Amino acid sequence: KRGLGIDVAKTTWTDIGGLDSVKLKLQQAVEWPLTRAAAMKRLGVRAPRGVLLFGPPGCSKTTLVKVIATQVRSTFFSINGAALYSPYVGDAERTLRETFQRARATSPAVIFFDEIEAMVGKRALGGAANADSVQERILSTLLNEMDGVESSDGVLVVGATNRIDMIDAALLRPGRFDHVVYVPPPDYHARKDILLINGRKMPLGSDVDIDKLASQTEGFSGADMANITREAALLALRHNIDANRVDMCHFEAALSSVQPSLKRDLMEYY
Ligand code: ATP
Repeated sequence: KRGLGIDVAKTTWTDIGGLDSVKLKLQQAVEWPLTRAAAMKRLGVRAPRGVLLFGPPGCSKTTLVKVIATQVRSTFFSINGAALYSPYVGDAERTLRETFQRARATSPAVIFFDEIEAMVGKRALGGAANADSVQERILSTLLNEMDGVESSDGVLVVGATNRIDMIDAALLRPGRFDHVVYVPPPDYHARKDILLINGRKMPLGSDVDIDKLASQTEGFSGADMANITREAALLALRHNIDANRVDMCHFEAALSSVQPSLKRDLMEYY
């Protein structure tokens, strides 16, 4: 079925540049309750049922969830909020209920809702009255399922959105998405990290100045940074198909062809 999948690709914390405090928050909120359940219980710390990640696009929300799923060796269910309404998925409410059922049966499990605002956004977005009532039913199905998941079930629900303002307040009550974590655009150090991560398998010329590139990329998302690296390698090959390294001139040329996607968005988030 489309919109409902299991992804087991190995991803680790070291694949994500920057975001140290986000990583720590997630480790404590998510990994510990699943991997150190006894210790948490001893101190009376309840495992979160849901974590909501919000922030600008292309800044590793999806990657973070994959790392969480890998770290806790859990089954990973992924549902795209917009795709849930697709005719290919069929009955959206049933898909939701079945996903929770399967997650409980294969715990520990992580259920990831990407673009969750498209699934349970505020009614104002809805448009046609009919569409509204479908959204309403999806929201109450999700709330029911989340309320029904006991922390001991080992099922964690993670939502990701670029539009926290569109999320229905009912989802933010305790016992639902009780951790809301902002995933910021990469700062200078994070951009440097991302360049190094992306360049790990790439032979770089000795003139490649990572510090300079990081300071020239204000407003670039993590995805933009990955694009720059890819583009620089392609340019090196375009100049010389036998090239065995990527030089600073290739990065500089790539920089002028990749546009920062966060300029406008940043205004909204700060
Ligand atoms: P969207 O909101 O558009 O779904 P997202 O926040 O979920 O985006 P990802 O899909 O996780 O972002 O990131 C897209 C790609 O950008 C990743 O596959 C990765 O290559 C790169 N990327 C983004 N942020 C980072 C980062 N901090 N470190 C390393 N790579 C990153």
